[in-house]
Amino acid sequence: MEPKRDYYEVLGVDKDADARTIKRAFLKLARTLHPDVNKEPDAEEKFKEVNEAYSVLSDDQKRANYDRYGDPNGPAGFGSDYVDVSDIFGGSGFGFGDIFDSFFGGGRGGAGAQARTRGRDMGIHLQITLEEAAAGCAKTLSYERLAPCDDCNGTGAAVGGRMQTCSRCHGTGRVVEVQRTIFGQMQTQSACPDCGGSGQVIDHPCETCDGQGRTPSREKVEVKIPAGIHSGQSVKVEGKGEAGLRGEVSGDLVVSVEIKPSERFERQGDDLYCTVKVDSLQAILGTKVVLDGILEGEKAEVEIPAGCQFGQQVVIERRGMPRMGMIARGNLVAVVQVETPTDLTKAQLLSISAIEAERSLGSAAAPEASEEGGADDKWRAPKNPFKGKKK
Ligand code: ZN
Ligand code: ZN
Repeated sequence: MEPKRDYYEVLGVDKDADARTIKRAFLKLARTLHPDVNKEPDAEEKFKEVNEAYSVLSDDQKRANYDRYGDPNGPAGFGSDYVDVSDIFGGSGFGFGDIFDSFFGGGRGGAGAQARTRGRDMGIHLQITLEEAAAGCAKTLSYERLAPCDDCNGTGAAVGGRMQTCSRCHGTGRVVEVQRTIFGQMQTQSACPDCGGSGQVIDHPCETCDGQGRTPSREKVEVKIPAGIHSGQSVKVEGKGEAGLRGEVSGDLVVSVEIKPSERFERQGDDLYCTVKVDSLQAILGTKVVLDGILEGEKAEVEIPAGCQFGQQVVIERRGMPRMGMIARGNLVAVVQVETPTDLTKAQLLSISAIEAERSLGSAAAPEASEEGGADDKWRAPKNPFKGKKK
């Protein structure tokens, strides 16, 4: 394999070229190399190479990393609030190829097809952690879309260019064809191929966008994820989907959120479940365990009652997930796991076996200990946890 060419060399721009120059160079090359246009055998490879170079050089952060380390991902990757979603579009979403197809196909209005002038909504997928869902977060998404053309402000007209009534359809946007058939004359109507059905053409179209008013472009958008969001819910960023043709309304960017499974908590509705481990002696006597809560720096105190059983649930109110759009929160439910200690000393084991021997005797003969207990008792069980259940 040949060594990878320098991205600047691929696009034929200087190292200090500005964003607009890079974009123009990319569009020019992409137009000549797009597989729909260029039938040369190596066109597709070259198109991919150009696309890769652009996707790095059009992204400030990736470009800075590339310049400094020779690797767009840098030495340690990106910060967690920065997400490049252009690779995650997947099969069903918008791929860069799809964006190009819209660019090449859009506005030309294939014969008979009603041209689509409004921009489409774009759906993208965003993974966040449960902690981020609990606190709410802001993410900077980097993605590719058809965006309003910078050079003509989305009008599609070059400097001095004007919109004019289409001469072919006289502004109706439709052309009527009359065919003679054996049944007589038949009229068929279709969208005007010259103006794509809009009824208007530009006398001097913008060269950068070919008169469409939009170009494939790398964009950054900040999206705010509200606290308490659930997996599968989405956040809409208005106007950040595909740009409309020649200044028509843009579609929206629909960010659907998926929450990564947490290692510490399991979410059920707005409640959070977690496990707390205590040893069997602690379970007998009762204890207090302090857990890290779901929010940063938050502590949750779990009161393990004396006589606690394996799997017993201790509810800590209002320490679960925030309810979206409200101050209220769900509960934190600690599920107790009792572990048998294996590191007891001989002396400790002897004391425990003494208790065990006493209990064996007691259960055979002695009546149940009085509720008041003896004055010499060092420790007294607060309440026999099994007593109530037996009734
Ligand atoms: Zn027309
Ligand atoms: Zn333009």
